[in-house]
Amino acid sequence: MNIITLHHHLLHASQNHFAENEHPGLLAITRDGKSFRILDGTTRDGDLEETPAVGLDDLLSGPDPDILREVHRLIHRCLSSGQSWSYVMELDAGDIFQDDIRLTGRLVHKNGESLMLLSISVLDAGARQTLRLRRLKTAFSEMLDTVPHGMAVFDHEGRLVYFNRQYAATYDRIADIICIGQQLERIEKEACHRGQFAASPRHDSAALPDSDNTEADSASPENGPTRTSTRRLHDGRWIRFHRTWTPNRFMVISAVDITDLKTAEERLELQARYDSLTGLLNRGAFLERLMKLKAARRRDDIAEGCLILMDLDHFKAVNDTHGHQFGDRYLQHMALRLRESVRCNDLVARLGGDEFIVYMDNIPEADQPQVIDKLHAALRQPMRIDGVEIRPGVSMGVVAVRKSELDIDRIMGRADAALYLAKREGRDRWRNFDPELERRNARRRILLDDLGKAVAEDRITLAFQPQVCLSTGEHVGFEVLARWNRDGENVPPIEFITLAEKNGLIMDLGMHVMDRALRWHAGLSETGMNGGRLAVNVSVVQLKNERFVQETMKLIRHHAIAPEVVELEITETAIMERDVRLIERHVRQLAEFGCRIALDDFGTGNATLSHLQRFSVHTLKIDRSFVSQLEEENGNIAIVRAIIGLAHNLEMEVVAEGVETETQRQLLHAFGCDNAQGWLYARPLSMLDAQMWLREHRERCKRVDYVI
Ligand code: C2E
Ligand code: MG
Ligand code: MG
Repeated sequence: MNIITLHHHLLHASQNHFAENEHPGLLAITRDGKSFRILDGTTRDGDLEETPAVGLDDLLSGPDPDILREVHRLIHRCLSSGQSWSYVMELDAGDIFQDDIRLTGRLVHKNGESLMLLSISVLDAGARQTLRLRRLKTAFSEMLDTVPHGMAVFDHEGRLVYFNRQYAATYDRIADIICIGQQLERIEKEACHRGQFAASPRHDSAALPDSDNTEADSASPENGPTRTSTRRLHDGRWIRFHRTWTPNRFMVISAVDITDLKTAEERLELQARYDSLTGLLNRGAFLERLMKLKAARRRDDIAEGCLILMDLDHFKAVNDTHGHQFGDRYLQHMALRLRESVRCNDLVARLGGDEFIVYMDNIPEADQPQVIDKLHAALRQPMRIDGVEIRPGVSMGVVAVRKSELDIDRIMGRADAALYLAKREGRDRWRNFDPELERRNARRRILLDDLGKAVAEDRITLAFQPQVCLSTGEHVGFEVLARWNRDGENVPPIEFITLAEKNGLIMDLGMHVMDRALRWHAGLSETGMNGGRLAVNVSVVQLKNERFVQETMKLIRHHAIAPEVVELEITETAIMERDVRLIERHVRQLAEFGCRIALDDFGTGNATLSHLQRFSVHTLKIDRSFVSQLEEENGNIAIVRAIIGLAHNLEMEVVAEGVETETQRQLLHAFGCDNAQGWLYARPLSMLDAQMWLREHRERCKRVDYVI
């Protein structure tokens, strides 16, 4: 029998033996604290009738061991010292709404024997209610202690009426004053006083936009249903406090630990602002800081700074030779060196690849060369990485930043131009921004804009420069040269051709030149004149384009001109290009079609004999620079003779460019050069002038003997 069964048994007995409203307490007695006897329900204290003893452990089996232990303790205490006791016991510990019973014990003496009367009663409604409420409170307390967030409730007078374990843990430095009845104001004051929060709280960033970091006492039920603030604790934890009000004006504060979120957010921010390889700022963060720095500057601030854009020389080669990991280490070493070579408040960033940038503030322009020299020297010091010695080469573009200059894009553009200059002048040096460069860039932009229109509107004209045979003086052909007269200014072909090459206009421009030249030649034929060869300059960009081959053939057919009339002048640099195979294929297709191939500006590049053979070149054009120095004593004669000899051995024709004097003509002729062009014969002529020149030249040839 356990106590529950006993309870039912006794209740049942009470119904049988007691009159209504009579005291229902039925008694069990223990004598030795180990066994009990059930007394007849009808008997009174003084007249006890006993049943055989039953083990007490049996009776109390079922309740939890703690309860069992406690009841035993109470029984023994009562038996030994006569102390009465009372104990409320749950019948079903799993359900807080279950009926409870009260056990009471008191000592009686019967027949000289000490017995303890154990009465069992079901709690009355009031007592049960109180008990239940107490249990409910405890249960909720326990439940809320398991919630990972801190929770506290303050009454309308700001007194703490409830808080859970996590709330107290949030305020670890003032744990001693976190107690029921404590004033919110005191908690906050003490928290400040004892440094509960980090000294300079980092307020919420954009990733947590709902926070306002308001001080707690500025919030009230009138300000809105919920107020949020985020604080950093002295130990680095981030806590977000929410305060809200219940309808009966209790204020509930919850404290959520958002450290993980903040850490992730900080990591993201770090990734977004810093270069992961070197730990330096990245481009975006650098520009942002520079912008802030400039914007914060007062107008009368005399400070000046300088921006240095830099590039490691031959980084690609280091990467290719030693591998990417080594390359990364090199970048890291250089980043560190850079950081250590400037002052700590200077801005240093890696823009990507091997490009770094530094902004040094408060350096007067006059002092800058010295500072930059020092920086450059420090960066160039040899270093050892994995046992490999590296001698870093650094090219730097420097631009002095004036206080009034706020256009960051412009400053960056200037640094870029200066860096370009440093590289062009041989790398591993620094160059200041040259305003002339900016002017040139501006012009380039304007020209580019106009050039597209000029090509589309047929405003690119052609000049024809005659080529003559050095032996007979007879006309051989014309070199076709593009001309652009832009509002009265003759833009140098080198300038607009380079521009067109860089900006995708060269195909259109080239085809335009070819078409007009062929049409002019065909027109001449119709008037019974022979225009001879047409040497048309072709850019390397065109040569890489399959369309160029097709369209050239199409134009030649369209104008019904023999392909061999067209001599395509390709520059020496074209055959040195990386895409040489592609170019070679296109050149071969055109040569097979019947066009002649001339190698222009020969001697200025690095073309070798094998290049000449590979490209089936028909004509070599000796560059003007050799011709112009023929009369000087510096060995050019030997070079020109060698070129001519070489070309003839390879069964090529030789044309000398830029022949301006009779001496040059004579020398070239003496060396066996085939043809020549230059001012001695004619400057590049308009279509009409070229036609007239041709006619007159024919006449002249009939009369003058050019042969020496
Ligand atoms: P290039 O093909 O070497 O052209 C020869 C250049 O030498 C021409 O300069 C011509 O005007 C100049 N010249 C000719 N004889 C003499 C002389 O006796 N003395 C001096 N000082 N100069 C002489 P231009 O017309 O300024 O052309 C420069 C370059 O522009 C050309 O060099 C050629 O590479 C390029 N070019 C011109 N027209 C075209 C074209 O339609 N397409 C392409 N792709 N390039 C072109
Ligand atoms: Mg040429
Ligand atoms: Mg040339």
